[in-house]
Amino acid sequence: MIAEEIRRITEALPEGVRLVAVSKYHPASAIREAYAAGQRLFGESHAQELQRKHAELAQLEAEGMEWHFIGHLQTNKVKYIAPYVSLIHSADSPRLLEEINKQAVKAGRTIRCLLQLHVAGEETKFGFTPDEALAYLDSGAWQQLTGVELAGVMAMATNTDDSARIRADFNRARLFFERARSDFFSATDRQPSAFTELSMGMTDDWHIAVDCGSTLIRIGTQIFGLRDYD
Ligand SMILES: *Cc1c(COP(=O)(O)O)cnc(C)c1O
Repeated sequence: MIAEEIRRITEALPEGVRLVAVSKYHPASAIREAYAAGQRLFGESHAQELQRKHAELAQLEAEGMEWHFIGHLQTNKVKYIAPYVSLIHSADSPRLLEEINKQAVKAGRTIRCLLQLHVAGEETKFGFTPDEALAYLDSGAWQQLTGVELAGVMAMATNTDDSARIRADFNRARLFFERARSDFFSATDRQPSAFTELSMGMTDDWHIAVDCGSTLIRIGTQIFGLRDYD
């Protein structure tokens, strides 16, 4: 039951932690059901699928639902989602951030983005290592991107049953997040820091992620059931 799972999860979340319902591969009807249960943030990981659902669910969007993009985003697809996406969790290269900036400016918007940090054991092409992310922040290049607001960090833990390993990955992401925030986004008296989001935690590891300081958990399977990839 979609409504039941959403209630179960949100009741367990400490204040300040928000749920992103990951609706990829699930139909608009499932999103409507979650929306009716009070869910407002939805995560998708394919630009074309998001584009279809955005058109189909325009009414919910007008009423306050928000689309988050959480998967690997190819630069040539940014233009499809730039006019309406609310947060991109998966900004994984300087080049992608530049393209998001370009399309945001074109759409007359500022798009909030999270730096995707690679902390897991698996080999992957995607994400900044902590060193690369610090070098990028240090370069100051992001300050020229007037259409992008860097809003925090996203990370995935190693895909393992070893909860100590998962916790270690999440803690590394949290340490990076805190260091970046204090070194590059210090709040002033007049302006609070905009670098506030730490997106960590999926169906199998969100309890650990919340323990480690996550502010956004991204949950698909627990809410919507198994995905049908056909
Ligand atoms: C699919 C996906 C999720 C949701 O995973 P579940 O295990 O189904 O909760 C979360 N984050 C990202 C980046 C994803 O691609």
